[in-house]
Amino acid sequence: MNRRAEILQEMGLAPVWKLKKKSIGKEWQDLKTRVAGCTDCKLRAGCTQTVFGVGDQQADWLLVGEAPGAEEDRIGEPFVGQAGKLLDNMLAAIGLSRGRNVFIANVLKCRPPGNRNPEPDEVARCAPHLARQIELIQPKLILAMGRFAAQTLLNSDATIASLRGSVHRYAGVPLVVTYHPAYLLRSLPEKSKAWADLLFAKRTIEGR
Ligand code: URA
Repeated sequence: MNRRAEILQEMGLAPVWKLKKKSIGKEWQDLKTRVAGCTDCKLRAGCTQTVFGVGDQQADWLLVGEAPGAEEDRIGEPFVGQAGKLLDNMLAAIGLSRGRNVFIANVLKCRPPGNRNPEPDEVARCAPHLARQIELIQPKLILAMGRFAAQTLLNSDATIASLRGSVHRYAGVPLVVTYHPAYLLRSLPEKSKAWADLLFAKRTIEGR
């Protein structure tokens, strides 16, 4: 038994902890297979591979971005370019990392050509994959990064600026909106706002 399990058992919480999330191994694998073979929109024909997501499939934190870029398309993992480095640093600053209690996914699983914006029909066809990821992960909090993630998950056309600072809900899961890390690379003054959003998300997940 590891230290965490021992402490939980001493506190009489071990059974609750074990019940927290059911095993999703088979469903998760099925979903991965479905995404890898998906040709529901025109993007699959032009990308190298689908980018399912990365991290802990039982994570409390689910971070959602827009779509794979060139590096992500090449490597098969979300947020591995410059924006990803910034994201990793921000996560590390609050004691998180992509492998530990965090899952990172995108609205689109395939790279749009030339990194153009996702088109509405592509979002509509890909959104069920993200919806199923959320259903299986059962995160305690969703951090929607950027306009496409926020607008898709909240079914809204409101701006990031107007959506920040409140706890929204996606299928009952608390959802916090922040700027996309790629936008932060271009607009350094907004970094402090994104940092405030991350702290707000942390307080929300901790129930403070
Ligand atoms: N931007 C995104 O939205 N997602 C990635 O995976 C990389 C860059």
